[in-house]
Amino acid sequence: MLLGALEAGGTKMVLAIGNENGEILEQISIPTETPDITLPKIIDYFKDKNIEALGIGSFGPIDLDRSSKTYGYITSTPKLPWINCDIAGILGKSLGIPVGFDTDVNGSALGEATWGSTKGLASSIYITIGTGVGVGVYQNGKLLHGMLHPEAGHVLLSRHPEDTFTGVCPYHAQCLEGLASGPSIEKRWGKKAYELGADHKAWEFEAYYIAQALVGYILTLSPHRIVLGGGVMHQTQLFPMVREQVTALINGYLKTPQLDDMDHYIVPAALNDNQGIMGCIKLALMELEENSRN
Ligand code: ADP
Ligand code: ZN
Repeated sequence: MLLGALEAGGTKMVLAIGNENGEILEQISIPTETPDITLPKIIDYFKDKNIEALGIGSFGPIDLDRSSKTYGYITSTPKLPWINCDIAGILGKSLGIPVGFDTDVNGSALGEATWGSTKGLASSIYITIGTGVGVGVYQNGKLLHGMLHPEAGHVLLSRHPEDTFTGVCPYHAQCLEGLASGPSIEKRWGKKAYELGADHKAWEFEAYYIAQALVGYILTLSPHRIVLGGGVMHQTQLFPMVREQVTALINGYLKTPQLDDMDHYIVPAALNDNQGIMGCIKLALMELEENSRN
């Protein structure tokens, strides 16, 4: 069975054809311009590919409430030309196929939960630390939406006592994204993040903020495992630093076999940066199943 996948990002769109086993058969990427320019290119790519459904993991915020008039829309995004764009509706109607729709980071959470490092677990979370910070939550075979969808990259944190940097989030003086995203590291230190040595002070601050956020997620969501992905997590020295601080901050309050085995509790993504696009394949598959039930 052929399925389409679209990872809709603020700077580029990744388009792929895959199958129900998560195998990617072909893939291209195009720049994200305006909907008038970019959506016809996406339709053009998928229209002769014989796909049975399309899965979209999108930047947002997006409307995931199936009873809403604007279900499937990108809503209040800072990427202005895309505000109120009916991305799922337009692509679904033009291609005449069911469309599964979720946030980009929920897509990655689903990819890892289906084929990657959280496969087989009843619950997990996926955190991307890149240009922005996003959190996808997988529970009991489903992605968590709630009122909108989790925006847990913006959880508020206590500042590191030595950190005087103001943060890059225009909304919050001290949220995770503002203090620990790639752009925040680069603005704070005046260098590209990948140019900073593995023992640079930057990573101490970084682990301090990531660990604080993770403890909040562990206490509220109780995930069986946590995956850390995104460009910044290519700094693999962060993993032991984060694990150590998470254990210290939990301070013995929770006792589970998972937390006793931190090396397997806080882990990197297993799908080589294909977790997002593979998750979109799974979104397509889930939408087909949903349609056949109705
Ligand atoms: P996006 O979030 O835009 O989808 P990425 O997850 O690749 O893309 O994140 C890009 C960010 O990750 C950049 O801001 C950059 O600072 C940071 N980054 C990329 N590679 C590295 C690296 N090797 N070490 C540290 N930071 C990195
Ligand atoms: Zn914020």
